Amino acid sequence: MIINDKEFGEVIVRKSPLARGVRFSVSTSGRLAMSVPKYTSDFLAKRFLNSNREIIRNKLPLKDPSEQKARDYQKKVLMKKAREYLPYRLEYYATLYGYSYDKCRLTHANTRWGSCSSNRTISLNIGLMKVPEVLRDYVILHELAHLNHMDHSKAFWSEVGKHDKNYKLHEKRLKMFNPGV
Ligand SMILES: [Zn+2]
Repeated sequence: MIINDKEFGEVIVRKSPLARGVRFSVSTSGRLAMSVPKYTSDFLAKRFLNSNREIIRNKLPLKDPSEQKARDYQKKVLMKKAREYLPYRLEYYATLYGYSYDKCRLTHANTRWGSCSSNRTISLNIGLMKVPEVLRDYVILHELAHLNHMDHSKAFWSEVGKHDKNYKLHEKRLKMFNPGV
């Protein structure tokens, strides 16, 4: 359920059989999310919200509610661009350097550019579409190298360095951008 709130904009209410009490958090889109026990009425959910405004305001890093719709749109555009680009770029480098992965997954996490899991799935953040191509490629090469080294050991970095000589600079430059949308 969504509550349209004057102060917080769209508030996501998740009714869960596991929830014991009310809990507030920030959704990946920067909206306020609250989880409440399954049979909580909408009326009661709004009351919880009202009685916790002060805490929410002070404690949660919510994004500007007036920009929620604009961010949703931006995310949709990025996702479309990413879908038409990232899986192919990954495939290109994998083929070029002889890596084999199982799946490419697109994410929109707020904190990381990419990841590689032990089941050989490579996740790439759609936010990569906002950074210069050379940094995008660096992230892809970084995750591909994780297929052979699941850590950040010397051996790992030396493998990254084989395919991207400027990886140290790229790692540094990447910190100037934010993966979140
Ligand atoms: Zn890594």
